[in-house]
Amino acid sequence: MTYQYDLYVIGAGSGGVRASRMSAARGARVAVAESTYLGGTCVNVGCVPKKLFVYGSHFAEEFEDSERFGWQVGERSFHWPTLRDNKTAEIERLNGIYQNLLDGAGVDTHRGHAQLLDAHTVDVDGTRYTADKILIATGSRPYVPEFPGCEHVITSNEAFYLDTFPKRAVVVGGGYIAVEFAGIFAGLGAETHLIYRGPLFLRGFDEGIRGFVRDELEKKGIHLHFEENVSRVDADRTVHLTSGGTLSADTVLYATGRRPNTANLGLESVGVALTDAGAVAVDDYFQTSVDNIYAIGDVIDRMQLTPVAIGEGMCIAHNLFGTGEKRKQDYDNVPTAVFCQPNIGTVGLTEEAARERFEIDVYESVFRPMKHTISGREERTLMKLLVRRADDVVVGLHMAGPDAGEIVQGMAVAMKAGATKAHFDATVGIHPTAAEEFVTMRESVR
Ligand code: FAD
Ligand code: NDP
Repeated sequence: MTYQYDLYVIGAGSGGVRASRMSAARGARVAVAESTYLGGTCVNVGCVPKKLFVYGSHFAEEFEDSERFGWQVGERSFHWPTLRDNKTAEIERLNGIYQNLLDGAGVDTHRGHAQLLDAHTVDVDGTRYTADKILIATGSRPYVPEFPGCEHVITSNEAFYLDTFPKRAVVVGGGYIAVEFAGIFAGLGAETHLIYRGPLFLRGFDEGIRGFVRDELEKKGIHLHFEENVSRVDADRTVHLTSGGTLSADTVLYATGRRPNTANLGLESVGVALTDAGAVAVDDYFQTSVDNIYAIGDVIDRMQLTPVAIGEGMCIAHNLFGTGEKRKQDYDNVPTAVFCQPNIGTVGLTEEAARERFEIDVYESVFRPMKHTISGREERTLMKLLVRRADDVVVGLHMAGPDAGEIVQGMAVAMKAGATKAHFDATVGIHPTAAEEFVTMRESVR
């Protein structure tokens, strides 16, 4: 049987675009279907616009801090439509770049909603295409629990396009998005409340880091409500708390996780199995329960991070159309950052997970960033190294402080290479930086 394409990719997001381009580069005939926007979540309503908003939200503190460095900044005000629309213009530029990348690689782009008709046929808004292999890279979407008034709340998707910037923002959730958006809203001038159902947000991160970030966010005036939830939201955005109180808000943002996009894809009719959590079930090589159908990225719900989706896309292109041994994605020591203020950067095990597995020594440093010795700001930085006692290998590295994402990316290379504490000690610092602290911690604290 001959097919129109060697590979048909559903979803032109982080994973799908990379798999398409790299497969085409290996000589495959490839098409990709996209129902919404090229570049997917990350480019349009995720990493990129979020980071642009984070940059925008830092200026208020920069203006304040500059005064003790001798600058007179004068009257300040924030104009939301300028930030929102300049962000949107940049996203539209990136959409064009993604189109050029796909065109340049010789990948056909089909705009519309794709679904499987059988294991080799995809329907895109009424047009049928056949392919030898199919890749599901449809990503995920925000999840909002059902409760009275849930129609009055927004998700991160809408937060990027608000008509007016809120004076009072309530953010519900305690994961990446909640903590990042609480920082954005507060930095841009909103009275900001974060409501989290558990005792401490950022579950899964190192406990020392979580407590430290809680304290730093409180210093910045973000109102944190832990062991709290929402029972009802009124049409005027009055938020009723389960503990009994109320909060008046202009915007209520729910950041309570994301769910894999598996609906209306024809998966059931073709026999593609899902996990109990509703993700597409795949093996180590991203093959689904149907031999010629594969899945990567958020829709398989392993690690919802862009570089991971891209890595999985690279594996697909190599395994399906490359030569040599098949590759698996390595999920060990994946570095990650939360772009709250201050940033969190982390790679490897948390102190709690490391202790469960080995005897460890903990090296830790809390200090005032040099800039704030003059600015007077009471902000601190925390750095931690976790070292396995048996062989001196660094098994966890965590930071909360300015540029933690930038700093930890480099440290992650050392961790991937199996660096020991002796390697860190033998590395000469770059002075004066915050990052040098990672190579100058001499005494373990625990
Ligand atoms: P996506 O990028 O979501 O792409 C899936 C694409 O498939 C979408 O374009 C969708 O329209 C399309 N699609 C779905 N169904 C169909 C269909 N039936 N037919 C045709 N097309 C379809 N990760 C980081 O690493 N760093 C960050 O800083 C970061 N920040 C984030 C901030 C926010 C607010 C959010 C929401 C996410 C963030 N992420 C971040 C996560 C990151 O965006 C995702 O992990 C990543 O985009 C997943 O890539 P993907 O290819 O699996 O899916
Ligand atoms: P997360 O899974 O990170 O966090 C969801 C939060 O919502 C948790 O605190 C969870 O609580 C809480 N929650 C879940 N259900 C409910 C409920 N019914 N009522 C109240 N609270 C609830 O999801 P996010 O939406 O923050 O982000 C999705 C993913 O996107 C992230 O996990 C990450 O992989 C990716 N991302 C990455 C970023 C980055 O790399 N910087 C930035 C943004 C997103 P509990 O902890 O108790 O379960």
